Amino acid sequence: MNDQFYKELNRILLENQIKLHERLEYHTSLHIGGPADYLVTPRSIDEIIKVIDLCKQYSIPYYIIGNGSNLLVSDKGYRGLIIKFDEHFSNISISEDGLVTAQAGVMLSKLAHELARQEYSGFEFACGIPGTLGGAVTMNASAYDGEMKQCIIGAKVLSSQGKILDLTLDELQLGYRTSILQKENYILLEATMKFAKGDKQQIISKMKELNGRRRDKQPLEQYSAGSTFKRPQGYYAGKLIQDAGLSGYQVGGAAVSEKHCGFVINKDGATAKDFYQIIQDIKAIVKEKFGVELEPEVKMLGEF
Ligand SMILES: Cc1cc2nc3c(=O)[nH]c(=O)nc-3n(C[C@H](O)[C@H](O)[C@H](O)COP(=O)(O)OP(=O)(O)OC[C@H]3O[C@@H](n4cnc5c(N)ncnc54)[C@H](O)[C@@H]3O)c2cc1C
Repeated sequence: MNDQFYKELNRILLENQIKLHERLEYHTSLHIGGPADYLVTPRSIDEIIKVIDLCKQYSIPYYIIGNGSNLLVSDKGYRGLIIKFDEHFSNISISEDGLVTAQAGVMLSKLAHELARQEYSGFEFACGIPGTLGGAVTMNASAYDGEMKQCIIGAKVLSSQGKILDLTLDELQLGYRTSILQKENYILLEATMKFAKGDKQQIISKMKELNGRRRDKQPLEQYSAGSTFKRPQGYYAGKLIQDAGLSGYQVGGAAVSEKHCGFVINKDGATAKDFYQIIQDIKAIVKEKFGVELEPEVKMLGEF
């Protein structure tokens, strides 16, 4: 640990906003991941900017996480500082004409329920995605009949040079699991969305129906990071994996879900090494059988 860096970090944040040697398994839906040197939970844009400036000054690498629901973190953890966006950075403001501005740390489920409460429709698709707004915009998360691209009209981001930029929807370049945020290492601070009024009962029953479909099809009772692979053009990753005979295939504690082959689950105390290896095995077998190159959707952090 760098004592001087830690001292200065304490001048920016309160003691309870800084964790040392924090195991990232507690911050990922896979429940996998070794310790990060530092993990901080900022409460304002000013704190984020100051923390990043300090990291740059001390040449300490930093990485952003939200709810960790699309993350595989190495067993060795992360040598650097994790900035976690959580409920301390999750304000939502909704104006009368359906303009919604929310901070990066708000959970999609919370935002969906708040919109339903205020009778706005168009975000039902996101209610069962277990991530934050920051992760969802960065990944252009989508489900059923919706994607983030349909509701976003703009966003405030922090560039790697430390500038706050207001980007339009076009400038965000949202595509299938991609965005300008990924390409340029921008940090999403807040996003603005637009929704129309709808019928509250219909909104709530649609959310219930979509969550029911999730429970029926997906192994929600087990730890996962959702779909492990992106959808290859013209195919479904889960179907390819199933047709390759890999349902239930296991490496250490990591296994292909028998309920939905697109999900690799942490079945029994999997390490990141198990998870990484099963991804390599699945890729190689699917490539050999069908000539299709699978690309992981899950983001990897640390050394593998
Ligand atoms: C059971 C389950 C079901 C799922 N279903 C779906 C689904 O239907 N559709 C779907 O699209 N995804 C799904 N996912 C995957 C995941 O929930 C989404 O990708 C989600 O958007 C990730 O959000 P997060 O906050 O957890 O991001 P994290 O996992 O914390 O981070 C993901 C990536 O985003 C970056 N990031 C996070 N916040 C920010 C920020 N503020 N600024 C810049 N970069 C940031 C991180 O650096 C990382 O690269 C599912 C996952 C699980 C476990």
